[in-house]
Amino acid sequence: MMLSGWGRHPALDCRLERLRRWEDLPGLLHRGTTLIARGNGRAYGDAALNPNLTLSTLAMNRMRAFDAGTGLLDCEAGVLLADILETFAPRGWFPPVVPGTQLVTVGGMIAADVHGKNHHAEGTFGAHVESLTLAGADGAMRTCSRAENADLFRATLGGMGLTGLILSARFRLRPIETAFLMAETLAARNLDEAMALFEASRDWPFSVAWIDCLARGAGLGRSLLTRGAFMDAGALPPSLASSPLVPASRGKLRVPFDAPSALPNRVSIGFFNELYYRRGRRRVRTGARPVHFDRFFFPLDRIEAWNRLYGRRGFVQYQCVLPKGKSAAGVAALLECAAASGQGSFLAVLKLFGSAGDGLMSFPMEGYTLALDFPVRHGTAALLDGLDEITHRHGGRVYLAKDAHCAPERVREGYPRLGAFEAVRAEAAGGRPRFVSELSRRLAL
Ligand SMILES: Cc1cc2nc3c(=O)[nH]c(=O)nc-3n(C[C@H](O)[C@H](O)[C@H](O)COP(=O)(O)OP(=O)(O)OC[C@H]3O[C@@H](n4cnc5c(N)ncnc54)[C@H](O)[C@@H]3O)c2cc1C
Repeated sequence: MMLSGWGRHPALDCRLERLRRWEDLPGLLHRGTTLIARGNGRAYGDAALNPNLTLSTLAMNRMRAFDAGTGLLDCEAGVLLADILETFAPRGWFPPVVPGTQLVTVGGMIAADVHGKNHHAEGTFGAHVESLTLAGADGAMRTCSRAENADLFRATLGGMGLTGLILSARFRLRPIETAFLMAETLAARNLDEAMALFEASRDWPFSVAWIDCLARGAGLGRSLLTRGAFMDAGALPPSLASSPLVPASRGKLRVPFDAPSALPNRVSIGFFNELYYRRGRRRVRTGARPVHFDRFFFPLDRIEAWNRLYGRRGFVQYQCVLPKGKSAAGVAALLECAAASGQGSFLAVLKLFGSAGDGLMSFPMEGYTLALDFPVRHGTAALLDGLDEITHRHGGRVYLAKDAHCAPERVREGYPRLGAFEAVRAEAAGGRPRFVSELSRRLAL
């Protein structure tokens, strides 16, 4: 069937099989083809695609054990973050790191070593994984942790599924007293102010900024920074105090059809940015207020299939990270390049990262990460080349979970531990990697 990532670009004709029992895996491996695991398909580009065999893990979704004394959860890799939240948040437990959507699997979160709005404080999801079980191309299952098969463990965090199939993982949830965060939004007139606000918000566990990417000149980087912290039960206003751990309301909007490709244009993007900024300014005036975690962390999940808004040809998300000292100049150059191309972005998100973790191919490094969305159209490839060049010049790298375009040499330059990763991957595969994706083929990994 035709398969793609969340950006719907590229779409490839893939043989998709659903793994229902781990015992079926050796039979699939015996066929001798290359294969790649697929979680919930939320990586934007080509990371979870292999025309020969793409193996869905969604049916492997059992939670196997939970220790209410320590918060340690043991679950299969196909479990969705949404299911963990639904099961455990009402009981007062929350994952240490969550990405911007809850519609991802545990396997996908480990393979991309995802980051959240708290990377400056907590690092990546992988930093909280105590151990995982990995099936290699030989069908053997290995327990990997920082103490056992440590190299394979570090290669699997952020390894984009190329070291094998993650079967299960153990990680610790955190206690929460309420489902609400005290959140406040602050306005920054330009990029320097936005970065100063991030620095001033270091003691806040969660922070993120939305940039109006159509603002230019002295207003380049005009943004709204939102920061938040989970509230204690005693701090809730009376209206919320009776059910502090209330689940999110389920109301959702759905995009029923593909938007015409002409829709995301300069006018509509300008209109969206202006509207968003005005709404945000209202929040700035309102001051700090309680916000349910669902709304705080996963605002886009409220609009089902929002990726159709970009039309049938799909879209790409460009996300890179730049080292701290070069972030101000680099982010400014990236925003200028995007604005000059005339291909404005609905979403431009800036986050502060803390220090890099131990995953050999993990994306974060200490500095700032910028994410921009662009509809796929004539000229998009040239724009992405331009952005890659700026990222490279400023010593940064792109996020493989979002990528559908980057050139092999750019990835080699950006990921200094790639050589070590390839050595571990080759050894685990007995010299001939079987876990291969369209991404690894494109990047000659
Ligand atoms: C709206 C939105 C917001 C996002 N926000 C963030 C964010 O804030 N931070 C962030 O870091 N990411 C973010 N992402 C990206 C997303 O978290 C990652 O791409 C994640 O990997 C998707 O998980 P998935 O289960 O959908 O995996 P898929 O997209 O299906 O696969 C992603 C990669 O994981 C591998 N994989 C999946 N399951 C396994 C397994 N069992 N064993 C081995 N490999 C496996 C695949 O081979 C592939 O390489 C966002 C994505 C969307 C759509």
